[in-house]
Amino acid sequence: MHLIEPTEREADAAEATAIEIIGIEPRALADALATGVDHGGNPIEPFADPAGGWPLRCCLGDSRPGDEIAIIAWSPFPWRGPYAETGPVVVHARGCPGAETTDRLPDRLDLAPMTLRPYGIDRRIAYDRVRHVPAGGSLMRHVRELLDDPDVELVHGRNVTGGCYSFQARLARRPHSG
Ligand SMILES: [Zn+2]
Repeated sequence: MHLIEPTEREADAAEATAIEIIGIEPRALADALATGVDHGGNPIEPFADPAGGWPLRCCLGDSRPGDEIAIIAWSPFPWRGPYAETGPVVVHARGCPGAETTDRLPDRLDLAPMTLRPYGIDRRIAYDRVRHVPAGGSLMRHVRELLDDPDVELVHGRNVTGGCYSFQARLARRPHSG
């Protein structure tokens, strides 16, 4: 298995307004794949994808025919608490070509409607700020507007029908100095 580490975080963090987009934290996923157990305590059962087209959270792309993938229970939160729920995601189980943090959303994520669910610095859902963005509706602009609110710590993109986790956006961490 090969996972690419984030390489440009420091450069991104130099700009205070930079936004960090991630599907699944690569090291956490690598750990789970190594132990063979997901966040729900289920055994991870990889399978060869014959047709492709699964939405993958490790690289925010679609699977290709022949990829080895797995459906796993995952809690994509940087903290614990009652709002840090666990749900199903699909990932490369081997040979992910591009698991890294990026500062922009892949265009394909804006091809379908998306629910944006903000979480506050109190680690709860900011229900009054939840947005339903139509396909092609400038998803990144809505993400930026939500993160401009100092009470919002991070934003989840969620499938509008099933509520499944799609991506997380937050302001890039500033580098420590001194
Ligand atoms: Zn992948």
